[in-house]
Amino acid sequence: FMNRSIEKIIQTIKVLEGGGFPVRRPFPTDELDQVDPFLLLDHLGPIEWGPGEAIGAPDHPHRGFETVTYLLAGETEHKDSGGHQGRLMPGDVQWMTAGSGVIHSEMPAPSFYEQGGKMHGFQIWINLPRDRKMIPPRYQDTPSEKIPEVLLEDGTSKVRVIAGEFQTTRAVIETNTPILYLHIKLQAGMNIVQPVTSDHNCMAYIIEGHGLFGAGKETQSASEGQLVLFARNGDEVCLSSGKDSPVELLLLAGRPFNEEIARYGPFVMNTREEIFEAFQDYQQGKMGIIS
Ligand code: MN
Repeated sequence: FMNRSIEKIIQTIKVLEGGGFPVRRPFPTDELDQVDPFLLLDHLGPIEWGPGEAIGAPDHPHRGFETVTYLLAGETEHKDSGGHQGRLMPGDVQWMTAGSGVIHSEMPAPSFYEQGGKMHGFQIWINLPRDRKMIPPRYQDTPSEKIPEVLLEDGTSKVRVIAGEFQTTRAVIETNTPILYLHIKLQAGMNIVQPVTSDHNCMAYIIEGHGLFGAGKETQSASEGQLVLFARNGDEVCLSSGKDSPVELLLLAGRPFNEEIARYGPFVMNTREEIFEAFQDYQQGKMGIIS
């Protein structure tokens, strides 16, 4: 195995998303457009909402990619133009393949809105390859208890396997193209080596604490809110917590498509014509309405 070095460490920017809730976004930015096939990474909160304050994302369309929502705290409700409805609780994952198109709303659950509380989570956009952009929409609403969890040898560090495989544990969520999505919590002094196919892009986003990435002389440290982009120069990545500090992070990897991208707001296609078509279909109600 060859250990990957670090290509760069990205700072997050803070933006308002949806109806105006704050997110930290390592990409897309001017500095980093995408990490093919990942189009966007949003870290929502953690934010403490008062009663009646919580903001969500009211009705909006998507076409041509997948949105993956992972909630750590709070409670959200989802409705879409296909009649699909669901609720996300802490630890749950919603893997939504927008495909040919959906209109959906992603809002705080009514009871959460009334009472307020802590909201914390992630939304990641994963591109679909040209030949899958117009597949029928699909949901994989996966409750927390169905997400496989691997306890490490210290008995407290753990890895949640949202997509792909960790050691011998496979995720239950099916992906359209090879994707690795791990939520890793390491106590101080722990270390993980994860195999990554040599032509796949790989990155770590640090949720809390700080960790060390890479191996030997190439090791670099990164802390909360930073994104570590690994170089494509090996087939495994090495990460560890500090000697005295725990670290919590997301580890993501995927096979790049190297396809042309035409991107406009909620639509991600291959050409400008296809974006125009998406707008037209949306405006003509071909993506349905939320009843
Ligand atoms: Mn959305």
